[in-house]
Amino acid sequence: MSETKEPLGCDTPRSAPEPGSLAWIKKLVSFDTVSRNPNMALIETVRDELGSAGIESTLTTDPSGKWANLFATVPAHDGSTQGGIVLSGHTDVVPVDGQCWQSDPFQPVVRDGRLYGRGTCDMKGFIGSALSLLPQMQAAKLRRPIHFALSFDEEIGCAGAPLLIADLQRRGIALDGCIVGEPTGMRPVVAHKGINVYQCLMRGLATHSSLTPKGVNAIEYAARLVCFIRDLADELRVQGPFDELYDVPFSTAQTSTIEGGNAVNTVPAECRLVFEFRNLPTLDAERVFARIESYARETLLPKMQEEHASAAIEFSKLASAPGLDASEQAAITQLVRALTNDHEKRKVAYGTEAGLFADAGVPSIVCGPGNIEQAHKADEYVTLEQLHSCEAFLSKLIQSLSVIG
Ligand SMILES: [Zn+2]
Repeated sequence: MSETKEPLGCDTPRSAPEPGSLAWIKKLVSFDTVSRNPNMALIETVRDELGSAGIESTLTTDPSGKWANLFATVPAHDGSTQGGIVLSGHTDVVPVDGQCWQSDPFQPVVRDGRLYGRGTCDMKGFIGSALSLLPQMQAAKLRRPIHFALSFDEEIGCAGAPLLIADLQRRGIALDGCIVGEPTGMRPVVAHKGINVYQCLMRGLATHSSLTPKGVNAIEYAARLVCFIRDLADELRVQGPFDELYDVPFSTAQTSTIEGGNAVNTVPAECRLVFEFRNLPTLDAERVFARIESYARETLLPKMQEEHASAAIEFSKLASAPGLDASEQAAITQLVRALTNDHEKRKVAYGTEAGLFADAGVPSIVCGPGNIEQAHKADEYVTLEQLHSCEAFLSKLIQSLSVIG
């Protein structure tokens, strides 16, 4: 955005030094982009601001056309758009329902050296910092391009980014590395677990509860699957694989929600359960799911169908995002380590879009302003100090990608 425009949102403080990115961040936070709401207004604003600086954006949308990803390239000084580094962030935020905020979550405000508002930390602080440095990127003689990748629906299972990545692949755009600016306190994070969320629908047969042998009790079979998932979780906990650099150093699994039955005197015809597992990147998520699915298909289903041929079990994947296990040898890892002067190996439990980029062949790393502890809560904030350090990091990144002299 142009620097003469007034930022949206509340008054800025008189005393604290203001990060140059504040106006952009406030503008982004003022859009209520809770995942259930369309993010198109935010995306169009970014597209228009980039457009006025001569940068074209490519949008990829969900089928409704109301949610969009944005990809845009600041070309190298020789005009090339291939290779280079992508700065990646999700535009959606988690809901504020039921939370008690001291100020309007979508009217960002600075208090005591902190910028408060939903998404300030996770992760519009990073996106705003990156966008605010566009003039610097354009003024630099970039040897390699810098790209922006903004996604939708990350918070509900990385639903948007795969469309963006598929579009890049379709258009033959190769990227040398990706920095995902999730809140890490501006310290590099090289690995995280994968996330896998599935629904299982058990279809039994309803009948009067005085005639149970004539029905198929979907809840009872669902309960067996719940126990199998718990046993599998226990096995992973005892047998590994392990990685002590994680808070929880093994893969986990659990049933999250369950619903079934409709009356006390009716054999339940249906039971629906949602389960998830979070795998270490060294454990193949498909093999974990295959064990659950084959128990259902080979052990439970024949028993159900013995009771009635119409019984069925249906699985559907609700969300998934692969884990990240960045190589220390990767150029992007070494670059971010050099720019932050930080060589500690950090691995985190939460998922990010970095695993998706890495799976698509783009070496990726996570590094962004703010602390994950301050995300998703009431009075979410990022400190101005973190925003300053993000801007300094990105400035150094631009310099490192520029022609010297
Ligand atoms: Zn996030």
